[in-house]
Amino acid sequence: MSWICPHCGTTATLQGADVASISSSAIMRTAPSREGFVVEWKAIRCPSKACGKYVLDVWAWFGSAEVFQSGERTGKATTDRERPVGIGYSRFEPRVAVPLSAHVPRAPRDDYDEACLIKDLSPKAAATLCRRSLQGMIRDRWGISKERLADELKAVKDECDPDLYAAMMGLKGIGNIGAHPERDANLIVDVEEGEVDSLLELLRILDKEWYVARARRAESLSAVVALSAAKAEAKRGLT
Ligand SMILES: [Zn+2]
Repeated sequence: MSWICPHCGTTATLQGADVASISSSAIMRTAPSREGFVVEWKAIRCPSKACGKYVLDVWAWFGSAEVFQSGERTGKATTDRERPVGIGYSRFEPRVAVPLSAHVPRAPRDDYDEACLIKDLSPKAAATLCRRSLQGMIRDRWGISKERLADELKAVKDECDPDLYAAMMGLKGIGNIGAHPERDANLIVDVEEGEVDSLLELLRILDKEWYVARARRAESLSAVVALSAAKAEAKRGLT
């Protein structure tokens, strides 16, 4: 089972001992349909020695008692995953997936964190925060500020490869629903939880390509400059 740790981003192969899970159910005897609830939780401990952090997911569904041919019912609710209880699923830990690097300015990082916190409860609001985080990064990284995100994206189009540009245009379109309700009131685009994950992933890619890569490059270049200065110093010492 290949698994990516949401804390450290490491891809790991999980062993049985890394996973603990429980499914429990209860029947409501007073309900005519003998309805019940099924609650499942699964905990995973990241097998990476450097990490070792926990991931805890919880699911809740409606179920119903199984009826046997004899008319007897089992005391256990069967899972009916088509009918989630409440939001149905929540990741208790970690609340924020792989955080953005400290090279990203505070405001877009806060928007990203908040999108992670609410993505299960309100995917649309989370998508809007992802859009604002994207705008914050574009303004900071490329030093532009226009009234509309569409115009800012156009301004950086030549700086980005076509795949990245298409993905950013996609995020703009999805997050737009919450950003301009007055203009898009007749457009109802549902944003599903899994879709928010791909928007968050795009923001992590931008962090890597725009901030982390630039910081590493600057570090490597200054290391070369420092090395050459040290050599020159050593040479002077010899003469
Ligand atoms: Zn980990």
